[in-house]
Order: sequence, then structure tokens, then C-alpha cells
Amino acid sequence: MTSIVERLEAHIAKQIRIWPCHTNRASSIGAACLRQLVYCRVAWEQQIPPDVHLQMIFNEGHLQETAFMSLFSDAGFDVFEQQSAHHDKKANLSCHIDAKARDPRGEVLDGKVFVAEFKSMSPYIFSTIKDVNSFQSRPWLKKYPAQLQSYMFFEGIEHGLMACKDKSTGAIKEIWFELDIDYMDTILKKCDEINKIVAEYNDAKEKACVFEGWLPDRVDDLEECKYCPFRLLCRPSIDFTAPLQIEDNPMAEKMIGDHERLKEDGKEYASIHKKLMDMLKQSAKVGGYDTYNAMIGPWLVNGKADRASKWKFTFTSAE
Ligand code: SF4
Repeated sequence: MTSIVERLEAHIAKQIRIWPCHTNRASSIGAACLRQLVYCRVAWEQQIPPDVHLQMIFNEGHLQETAFMSLFSDAGFDVFEQQSAHHDKKANLSCHIDAKARDPRGEVLDGKVFVAEFKSMSPYIFSTIKDVNSFQSRPWLKKYPAQLQSYMFFEGIEHGLMACKDKSTGAIKEIWFELDIDYMDTILKKCDEINKIVAEYNDAKEKACVFEGWLPDRVDDLEECKYCPFRLLCRPSIDFTAPLQIEDNPMAEKMIGDHERLKEDGKEYASIHKKLMDMLKQSAKVGGYDTYNAMIGPWLVNGKADRASKWKFTFTSAE
């Protein structure tokens, strides 16, 4: 019988897309690595596409956003210009706002219009969000303030709401940002710098040699690089080999033993293989590396993800 999960995952896999990128995007301009932002413009097609599980997270985020905006509206706020687009020609910076909103009762900001951006997040990340300075602990969080500030700047709106939701409990936090002109000045200068490099690249006849010579320096930051979709193209001089983990997991230990004993024989093997691969993939992805090394009981498990984030694992008995 076909597994329903496999069928749903195959369907979601068809939704995975990499879109051409010809502008600086507000949603990524806050990235700490300038080189990554240049890659986005000149080598967007060479990024590692999201795998099925990341695509599921994106889909879930869109569903949660729609639900939040409905809740917001049902609670009496005027919500308008949802997903409206803005493109600043000079900086070549494009943004889509989640929404503008105002409180017709006048209880929030005396009824003034504000920009609303919605983010759903894991319970752990949610617990770390306390104020405007809380968005620095992960590479993707660092991008959120720049995104909101860009919307506020181009819309000429002084206040921005970052509505954060715990995916697991549905709890919501409101973090308010004030338009920060000095910060936006640094963002616009960053855009200018990227535009200049991209123009030089586009004008060059020998793309490959310009590419190496003109790219901004790499950052020396494992956290940035391990989540960077251009890490295989960039090849930073950082060791991506995952450190060896010692895992006390009797269930995984038994499954590996059965997996190796059955040696690709019959239905029982197929069922164990699928469950074991799913379990190991989940563990491997937590580390954020492209490799996975663990001792599970007597088994040394080595895993490696290819460019499409497909994992392969080998098992060596230490006994
Ligand atoms: S791999 Fe690291 S250095 Fe290279 S572009 Fe990505 S973040 Fe920057």
C-alpha cells in the first residue's frame, strides 16, 4: 500500500521552487554576509533548494499568517494592503508588506496606521523573544528587523508591529519597532554596495574570473554559513563536519541492528529502512551541518547530505 505521508511529501516536493532574483529583497537584506547577498543577485539559481521539510515549514508559516490576519481583523483592527509590493528604484530594494493596520477604536497608537509583520516560530525561539534586540540569536532572525524597517521607511510609517506566534501553543507576542533612519541608512548603503558589485559583474565579459575577484569577503561565522543556501558554491573555509555525538537511543540502536541484519531483504527491511532514514534525517538536520556523525550503541553512523539535501547514511559496527 502506498504511504500517505510519502504521497503528501511527493506533492509538497513539487512546490519547491527557486525564483530568479534581480532586486535586493527586504526579506534578506539584513543578512550578516554581504557575499551571500551578492550571490542572491548573480547566482540565485545555484543556491541549495529547500528540502521537503523546510518547504513544509514555509507552507505552515503562510497558513499561520493568513490565520493571524483573520484573527487580527476579527478582533476589530482594520487590516489593509495585505501583501502590497514596493520597489525602490534607487536602492533596487523590493519589499512586500504583510499588511498595514490601524485600530479604529483608537486604543492602539491613537488609531494611527502601522505596518504589521507576522512571524511564526518554534517554542524555543519564541521564548527568547523579549524586545527589539531579541532578533540576533539566529541568522534568519537577524533579517526580520531590516525587513520591517524597510517597509516602514518606504511607506513613511513610524511604527511597526512584529507579531510573533508560538507554533506549538498559539501564544502571541507583540514587539513594536520605531522607524530608525540611521539603521535604514546602513541598509541603503548596503544596497548601493551590492548594486555596484552586481553592475561590475554584469558588465564583465569574463564572468568566472570577475566572480572570484570581486566577491565580498566571506564571513568567519559557522552559524551564518551552515544555514546559507550558497554554502556549496561559496565553500567557506569552515569545517562543516558535524562533531561526533554519543546518542543513548535504544530504539534507534535496535532499528539499525535489524536494518543491517536484514540487508535489503523483503518488506520488513523496507519498512525499517524508511523509519530509520526518517529518524536519522530529523536528528541530522538539527545540527545544521551537511554531515552527521553519531555513536548509537555499538553503531558508528555517518551521514552526508547532497546538494539537494538528500541524506545517505552508513553504519559501522564497533563490536
Ligand atoms: S557560505 Fe558563509 S561566507 Fe559564503 S556566502 Fe554563505 S554565509 Fe557568506
